[in-house]
Amino acid sequence: MNKFDYIIVGAGCSGLSLAYEMNARKLFANKTCAIIDKRKDFKKDKIWSYWDVYKHSFTDCLINKWDKFHVKNGQDQIILDCKSFEYQSIDSDKFYKKIINNLNLNKNIKLILDKPINKIYETNEGAVIECDSEIFKSDVMFNSSLDNKSTKENQIYQHFYGCEVEFDEYANLPLYPTLMDFNCNQDNWVHFFYTLPMAKNKIFIENTWISDEKSFSLERYVSEIDHYIQNNLSYKKKYKNNYSELGSIPMFHFQNNTEYKKIIPIGTSANLTRKSTGYTFLNIQKSVKEIATNISQGKNLIQTNLNLKYNYLDNIFIKVLLEKRGSMCNIFFDLFKKNKTRDIVKFLSNTSNWYEDFKIILSMPKLIFIKKLFNL
Ligand SMILES: Cc1cc2nc3c(=O)[nH]c(=O)nc-3n(C[C@H](O)[C@H](O)[C@H](O)COP(=O)(O)OP(=O)(O)OC[C@H]3O[C@@H](n4cnc5c(N)ncnc54)[C@H](O)[C@@H]3O)c2cc1C
Repeated sequence: MNKFDYIIVGAGCSGLSLAYEMNARKLFANKTCAIIDKRKDFKKDKIWSYWDVYKHSFTDCLINKWDKFHVKNGQDQIILDCKSFEYQSIDSDKFYKKIINNLNLNKNIKLILDKPINKIYETNEGAVIECDSEIFKSDVMFNSSLDNKSTKENQIYQHFYGCEVEFDEYANLPLYPTLMDFNCNQDNWVHFFYTLPMAKNKIFIENTWISDEKSFSLERYVSEIDHYIQNNLSYKKKYKNNYSELGSIPMFHFQNNTEYKKIIPIGTSANLTRKSTGYTFLNIQKSVKEIATNISQGKNLIQTNLNLKYNYLDNIFIKVLLEKRGSMCNIFFDLFKKNKTRDIVKFLSNTSNWYEDFKIILSMPKLIFIKKLFNL
């Protein structure tokens, strides 16, 4: 019988982070845990970036950190100083290796890969997982899978293709991350390029769209990156593509079954993504530490949520985005132009107070935001 005290569905960011934090608190000293995932192996598949406003356990997995970042729109460029909350990027390859090596030392933890899960439900005895040929049971389950999830919200996505580009000859590359460069076709949605400097001759370039489609074709993303390199970075020669990632982050939240007491959603599945930005990594880190601490203190297991205030403000922001669409780039740009970096970063990282939120709201075009506030 595949029976465990705990099962974690998904060996991704939230599943592995939770297992790591629980293991660090010795919660598997005499309890068993299975981590089940459909993936066959662990490869570098993401670069997670965030402003350093919260201490988490994976700072040794950093690719780099920066004390400035840019935002560009037309001829305008703003350089924002973030010395006291650096912009940092985590290498998922280092992150997976660190956690897997740590968990492998504990015989009570079993990592089960190549195991797609078809169905998850709860009975009086606990949580049940059905796979093609096997059933797994546990007293408590943490679930990061998005399968069979529904939503009542507008389904718009931040979808992107990013790749590391290496140049053989001199290229005039930015020294700091470009959070958003809106100098590209908007096609009546939101489109920007995001770049991270990797080395003197290397840059990570992400072609990002916010639209009602979950993704575009790979050919489209790649040809737009090529156009960006030739026109925005003015590099007309041949270049090499190394690591690449494809992503699609829901800019909406899911409905979770509130009757389940033994199945706790985690990660994106627990709605820890900021709808306005897609930032999730630090929210996951805060949430898994909270869950692990609650278990170690014998408290009731409940899903950790984003502060309701941010959901409320992000919902208004998404309504404005759906109306403004192709001109939303100007609103995003104004957010950075009209506010202090500290206030913006605190707002985007869920650490702002009401006064700071108020200043951000005042910098936005008032009429449309007030209309959307009152659902007009
Ligand atoms: C390419 C990419 C880049 C991102 N960059 C950033 C960033 O820079 N900053 C930031 O804050 N956020 C970022 N995000 C958003 C967010 O941080 C990540 O999506 C993060 O990985 C979410 O963690 P998670 O555990 O919820 O999901 P995941 O990390 O996707 O883990 C879910 C796991 O569940 C497994 N799974 C799913 N369904 C099943 C099933 N039916 N059976 C078995 N296994 C299953 C999957 O294989 C996966 O391993 C990014 C997202 C993507 C996709």
